[in-house]
Amino acid sequence: MKKYVSSISLILAIGLLCSCNSANTATEFLLDTVVTITADCDEETLSGAFALCREYDKLFSAKDDGSEISALNRGETKEVSKDTAELIEKATEYSALSGGRFDLTIYPLTVLWDFKNEIVPSKDEIAAALNSVDYESVKVEGTRVITGGKKIDLGAIAKGYITDKVLEYLKENGAKNGIINLGGNVYVFGDKEYNIGIKKPYSEENAAVLKLKNKTASTSGVYERYFEKDNIKYHHIIDPKTGYPAKSDLLSATVICDNSAMADAFSTICILKGKEEALDFIENTKGAEAIFIDETYKLSFTKGIKQEGEFLILR
Ligand code: ADP
Ligand code: MG
Repeated sequence: MKKYVSSISLILAIGLLCSCNSANTATEFLLDTVVTITADCDEETLSGAFALCREYDKLFSAKDDGSEISALNRGETKEVSKDTAELIEKATEYSALSGGRFDLTIYPLTVLWDFKNEIVPSKDEIAAALNSVDYESVKVEGTRVITGGKKIDLGAIAKGYITDKVLEYLKENGAKNGIINLGGNVYVFGDKEYNIGIKKPYSEENAAVLKLKNKTASTSGVYERYFEKDNIKYHHIIDPKTGYPAKSDLLSATVICDNSAMADAFSTICILKGKEEALDFIENTKGAEAIFIDETYKLSFTKGIKQEGEFLILR
């Protein structure tokens, strides 16, 4: 069984925004997911936002042979664009900050775990791949990247980074209100409040509705991409210590803050840490809040969030 769902839905949000003056909205399948952008801008600006997503995908996708990341991974070059260098640097910082639970050199493992063909790699394959995972080998000097022969996968942070860049671009082009949704990596900007649905794992229902204004929210979930074999669910967030899908008591982690790259990386880190440690981690991160759903489907959240009926509100 294969699943790929977006963990965040925008309830009525797009309709709301379009009911005001000159808002435009469009959806495309990009970045291996569904991208919807809505903003009070003209159509040209909106299509420019999608073009920007495509440009960044061309740089960052480890699956695309023509990307800068693929060229780095093949050892063909050390020179990359400013954006690629910036993102790799951020990813190394988050790798260190998570004590290597998040590891940007996870690529040898993520290629082994084949979710399309639902294949569980052999123990030997996993052991061999584990030998070439080590974020500490990666160094960034300006636009020069030293990989130390390691292979990079930015899948846990790239969508967030691109979301931040799309936001910058829309604002530069005069947009005042809008919603950027890159497959569940959401940024709502402007002075309007939006209702964001947090999905109940393995279901189409919402577990909660988050009221959000001028912030980003990113969810990582073990149910987002997985397959089941012999009654074991194998998901796409890999523990760099074992080489297997992370054994976590969390099914879903949503991180809310001002920077979408950070929200994206931190939501993945929370799954890897598990509930208790993740709560602590986000409580100790300035400007960040989080909502968790554990394996018993119990909802918990950090102190900056309060619950009012079905709604979760940032204080
Ligand atoms: P999604 O992109 O599906 O919304 P995440 O942001 O949690 O979910 O990212 C998962 C992706 O991150 C995986 O598909 C893989 O490319 C990559 N990844 C998996 N495990 C790790 C890890 N331990 N550290 C860094 N990246 C990882
Ligand atoms: Mg992530």
